[in-house]
Amino acid sequence: LSDRLTSTFKNLRTKGRLSEADIDATVREIRRALLDADVAVPVVREFTGKVRERALSAEVSGALNPAQQVVKIVNEELVGILGGETRTLRLAKNPPTVVLLAGLQGAGKTTLAGKLALHLKSQGHTPLLVAADLQRPNAVTQLQVVGERAGVPVFAPHPGNQGSDDVMPAGADPVAVARAGLETARARQHDVLIVDTAGRLGVDSELMAQAADIRDAVEPDEILFVIDAMIGQDAVTTAQAFADGVGFTGVVLSKLDGDARGGAALSVASVTGRPILYASTGEKLTDFEVFHPDRMASRILDMGDVLSLIEQAEKAFDAEQAEQMAGKLASGEGFTLADFLSQMQQLRKMGSIKKMFGMLPGMAQMREALDNFDEREVDRIEAIIHSMTPAERDDPKMINGSRRSRIAKGSGTTTTDVNQLLERFDAAQKMMKQMAKSGGMPGAMPGMG
Ligand code: GDP
Ligand code: MG
Repeated sequence: LSDRLTSTFKNLRTKGRLSEADIDATVREIRRALLDADVAVPVVREFTGKVRERALSAEVSGALNPAQQVVKIVNEELVGILGGETRTLRLAKNPPTVVLLAGLQGAGKTTLAGKLALHLKSQGHTPLLVAADLQRPNAVTQLQVVGERAGVPVFAPHPGNQGSDDVMPAGADPVAVARAGLETARARQHDVLIVDTAGRLGVDSELMAQAADIRDAVEPDEILFVIDAMIGQDAVTTAQAFADGVGFTGVVLSKLDGDARGGAALSVASVTGRPILYASTGEKLTDFEVFHPDRMASRILDMGDVLSLIEQAEKAFDAEQAEQMAGKLASGEGFTLADFLSQMQQLRKMGSIKKMFGMLPGMAQMREALDNFDEREVDRIEAIIHSMTPAERDDPKMINGSRRSRIAKGSGTTTTDVNQLLERFDAAQKMMKQMAKSGGMPGAMPGMG
């Protein structure tokens, strides 16, 4: 990661060593990114404090500039808290491996039960699902539907289970169902038992007691706490309540397909120290992933997939073109409409990496420019400039009223659009000359400064 960042950012100004001001500026950006991602406030405070401390005492690396170094530390800390390496399900020495699911109502336990069963089945396991949620009338049916889709049998207390004899009388209590499920798994040599349990809308002592009773009855090898990634600031109290009330060995983050940037992942991992094993990413049974701490770190920082972004950045900056541009910018002379267009096109390609630039101190201006950037605008500018004659492009001052209306017609725009473009170009040209005089571009783009 750092190597690739290094090559992409090597044209940014380097200041040699990590000053407190550099660090604080970057840490401020990180704090904002984490709060945007809905990481719990105390977790953000602790995290940024740790990053700041590490950055202050960090060996200054010649290869990285200060911002890169801080970002590297942030990323390492994030990945560390999120569990470092991906952890998989711990299998029992003597099967069946018992997996208990716990979490609030609607967290996604029943859905996950089916996904996990399908996942394990595809790895050659022979899971059995147990419906120990007798709280809601349709909870058992829901698990049966999920089990049928996954092609995995369901042990349930109600009759009507596709004519199978995995049936207990209605009215049985969840602890008895779970225990009977375990006996069934042993008898039929299922090597994994997945126990679905009831949840409540909020943390509730009766619910905790029931989950703890089921736990004591089946002695799980893994207790997976399922939490909705959209839960936001409540993640900490909910996770703490389940950690105290039932205890858990791992976390599953559900509904990661939504808008949530996954701050809950950091909150939960940070507060409980438990690893995140899986991510649930949709309503279909196949919307299920083994959790990757490094990918999650990128998502929380909103850096996307850093590697692919960097690839894009490299493509966006054709070195030769950039060099030519740099020459023109340095003198402020000969900046033409064609250059203006090519700059706009570069900006468009860079749109997707704007968040990354926004994280670096001194790049705030750049970020603002990109935030205000409208892609359709570039299409319009492109059309207008293409409708000009070469002579007009070289010398926009010759574009009088009748030329303006001809260009507007040719490009499918209005004369107002043409006027606006010419004004913007004029302003950009002036700015270029001014910057050439003052000796440099503020927030220069890599390869152009
Ligand atoms: P439980 O009460 O914890 O058993 O939660 P359920 O498994 O019944 O899920 C509650 C709702 O969330 C259902 O409508 C599911 O279809 C939905 N759901 C579960 N997991 C996901 C997910 O990863 N993404 C999305 N978009 N919806 C999910
Ligand atoms: Mg359920």
